[in-house]
Amino acid sequence: MTSQTIANTPTPDQIRRAPKVLLHDHLDGGLRPGTVVDLARETGYSQLPETDPDKLALWFREAADSGSLERYLETFSHTVGVMQTREALVRVAAECAEDLAEDGVVYAEVRYAPEQHLEGGLTLEEVVEAVNEGFRLGERRARENGHRIRIGALLTAMRHAARALEIAELANRYRDLGVVGFDIAGAEAGYPPTRHLDAFEYLKRENNHFTIHAGEAFGLPSIWQALQWCGADRLGHGVRIIDDITVRDDGTVQLGRLASYVRDKRIPLEMCPSSNLQTGAASSYAEHPIGLLRRLHFRTTVNTDNRLMSHTSMSREFEQLVEAFGYTLDDMQWFTVNAMKSAFIPFDERLAMINDVIKPGYAELKSEWLFRQTPSTSGFSAEKG
Ligand SMILES: [Zn+2]
Repeated sequence: MTSQTIANTPTPDQIRRAPKVLLHDHLDGGLRPGTVVDLARETGYSQLPETDPDKLALWFREAADSGSLERYLETFSHTVGVMQTREALVRVAAECAEDLAEDGVVYAEVRYAPEQHLEGGLTLEEVVEAVNEGFRLGERRARENGHRIRIGALLTAMRHAARALEIAELANRYRDLGVVGFDIAGAEAGYPPTRHLDAFEYLKRENNHFTIHAGEAFGLPSIWQALQWCGADRLGHGVRIIDDITVRDDGTVQLGRLASYVRDKRIPLEMCPSSNLQTGAASSYAEHPIGLLRRLHFRTTVNTDNRLMSHTSMSREFEQLVEAFGYTLDDMQWFTVNAMKSAFIPFDERLAMINDVIKPGYAELKSEWLFRQTPSTSGFSAEKG
């Protein structure tokens, strides 16, 4: 077993090449700094705090790290501020697909709130069509560079606004046309998901899928409402589920009713470690609840949330987890298969991704590691490993 574990420990290069699946990534949180600068110039947006891409990248990261919600939210006012034209949306979506593909992501569900992109005169439909066009363009460019990626869009409604039903209807209209589900996001405190029950009930009647940001800053009641009142298929973050888990001094673990339900029903948890560190939902990678939840076999997945603000990527998230928890390629594959099983595309397509892309990809990485080892340096041979 020990040799197997060593054999599976991934190098940073292997982590990057390993097939990865991303379920929780915000389009307005993943722009290239240079693109923000370009788009601000092209669209006449004059509010940027810096116009040099490197300085701007640092500004985004520091604002997100500052612990101030006001500054954190300000970062999105700039990215959203430059995403108000069709051309800007196409470019940002295309680059998103290319960047994820370059990072080894083979399937991603990327979310955005159409209602936040209307200031330049676009309609909700035009926003959705521009983003779809960008994703298709990015997928094609990635393919030309030897990367295979598929992107599905999730339409987000903002918790503090009153357009959730309208956005849910939009998600349903563009179903099978690039949109695979629905989400609500924004401040949890004071805006419980039950405010938008009409949207969730509508989607359920339409046999459609949705996830809800819940249990990030706010605790168990938010998770409970998202699941038992709204009927969410997945939980965005959901880290506070650990408040319903007791680890005793002797190491034994007891789950409360809600935590048991989440685990028994295989409710997917869209965990975003770096983002949680910035918002204070966890204090270090090593102390992040993902370690315990993985050990207890919750349906945990690894995600980026906001790549620009958190200065991260799927590879970086996995690098941090490998370092904190000693995860192996087997663990990476487990998280990846979990994510693919939890995607909102049809079952047969998920299965095909697992069997034709993910499993062969990991098998290849594991075998190449074994070939590199020699008995004299590793203490075991490829045959034994
Ligand atoms: Zn999020």
